[in-house]
Amino acid sequence: MSTKTGAAGKTGAGASRAPSASNFIRQAIEADLASGKHARIVTRFPPEPNGYLHLGHAKSILLNFGLAQEYGGRCNLRFDDTNPEKEEQEYVDSIIDAVNWLGADYGGTALYASDYFDFMYRCAEYLVSSGNAYVDSQSAEEMRANRGSFTAPGTDSPYRGRSPDENLALLREMRDGLHPDGAHVLRAKIDMASPNINLRDPAIYRIKHAAHHRTAGAWCLYPMYTYAHPIEDAIESVTHSLCTLEFEDQRPFYDWLLEKLADGGLFERPLPQQIEFARLQLTYVVLSKRRLIQLVEEGHVDGWDDPRMPTLAGARRRGYTSEGLRRFAERIGVAKENSWIEFSILEDAMREHLNDMAPRRMAVLDPLKLVIENWPEGKEALCEVPNHPQKPDWGKRPVPFGRELWIERDDFAFDPPKGYFRLFPGNEVRLRYAYVVKCIGYDAASDSVRCTVHEDSRSGTPGADRYKVKGNIHWVSTAHAHAAPVRLYDRLFGVPQPGSGERDFLLDLNPDSKKTVSAQLEPALREARVGESFQFERHGYFARDPDPNAFNRTVTLRDSWVK
Ligand code: ATP
Ligand code: MG
Repeated sequence: MSTKTGAAGKTGAGASRAPSASNFIRQAIEADLASGKHARIVTRFPPEPNGYLHLGHAKSILLNFGLAQEYGGRCNLRFDDTNPEKEEQEYVDSIIDAVNWLGADYGGTALYASDYFDFMYRCAEYLVSSGNAYVDSQSAEEMRANRGSFTAPGTDSPYRGRSPDENLALLREMRDGLHPDGAHVLRAKIDMASPNINLRDPAIYRIKHAAHHRTAGAWCLYPMYTYAHPIEDAIESVTHSLCTLEFEDQRPFYDWLLEKLADGGLFERPLPQQIEFARLQLTYVVLSKRRLIQLVEEGHVDGWDDPRMPTLAGARRRGYTSEGLRRFAERIGVAKENSWIEFSILEDAMREHLNDMAPRRMAVLDPLKLVIENWPEGKEALCEVPNHPQKPDWGKRPVPFGRELWIERDDFAFDPPKGYFRLFPGNEVRLRYAYVVKCIGYDAASDSVRCTVHEDSRSGTPGADRYKVKGNIHWVSTAHAHAAPVRLYDRLFGVPQPGSGERDFLLDLNPDSKKTVSAQLEPALREARVGESFQFERHGYFARDPDPNAFNRTVTLRDSWVK
């Protein structure tokens, strides 16, 4: 709960933000407000609780809730739970969690399509009575064969001429459980010759003797998605029903259905308007539910909240911020045509936000010991290290310094390549915020770099800058640092369009997407709270994982994938 109010409070659209770019959806809304068609807009986010939310859903959530907030309207969170078989409470909970995390304000009460089953059924009886729907008793194969094709019109069902009374009696028998699955379906009576296949008498109810996660055994007749969705929207007085482009061909049915029901007095006009936008397709990522389920069930990842997963649970655990996602969504905007969005745009949005809000810390990911031979054993100094270089008001913290330090293994080279400015025998570097040391050798037996220190070179003391060095490396004191597992996550897939063509998408998994190292962290990181983000200097942004002491790499400082 605190997540929700906290995030919503901080990110109020429009409050501190530049005005959002116009687009075809905003234009439609503004026109409807200007003409007086609507006094207030209502949008909705309608997930089906059959999987975890992912980055594509985030786009839809931020769009729907963002518009409602911007135009002073309302946005509903509505579970589209009309399919009894695939839906589970676990998914409902994870969806509410993710929506709260994104800071979307749905007024605290989630809605459920299954609460409308009675009314939906009443609509079906009305359609039957008014001659706009009929019970078809063809087999599934017959129905498929008679549907026609893109080039050939369909053929009327032999049952299409049933009278309203006969249809109503049959429909009630179906509802009352007198018929087995598949014996009959209820179909809208529109036009079997329509060039739009979706208008060739679409099925609107099917018999399914299955228990539902909320209505249990109350029903054995369930509405089809294409029938249920417009009715859900109209019940909630949704004004603008935003959906992804693949529903464009469904729009004529959406309108047909609501017009018929409004004619029958079941709804008042104005009716909701469906508007389609391009779904998010991100390079190096798969967003299809089926594939995500496969990744989890076959163990290619460590569960739904694996930080490599594009689920919001995974993104959050990786250290992505909801504000970063909001910036990303604003940057990519909404379009009417599908296209691929570069993963680097998402990473840049995260870098940008994390750079702003993540305190700096020192962490050595691949530790090599450095011994300062002229520093007395047991002597300790406290170096003052800024928490954020551009934010002096964030203050400094004392970081202990001593005779033995951990440095990065690749900050030392016995035989340095040309242009190498870090430690090698005879060279001097600055240990950040501390002293300048000179490398005097390497001891293979103890695997340690040997140095001497210039005691008058301490950062921030007078004359310290008379030492001119080209290398500036980070460190932690071996006596004070703690070892911790740090997971170096990278892209889960190694190619921009995993599984394109007929290729098995699993073949495109990046074998190096997770590497765990035993890092040495400065003392202040012991107090990190779960979910807290830091910049590990010179490495990137890392978030504290729920696993004890562990950190996850959110994103590197620079994009290593640019060619
Ligand atoms: P399914 O195949 O199970 O229907 P879905 O991804 O459409 O999967 P829903 O739970 O029905 O899942 O989606 C909820 C909402 O999120 C819908 O309005 C849908 O249009 C939107 N949505 C889903 N995927 C994306 C995406 N990649 N980009 C933008 N919006 C999306
Ligand atoms: Mg869907």
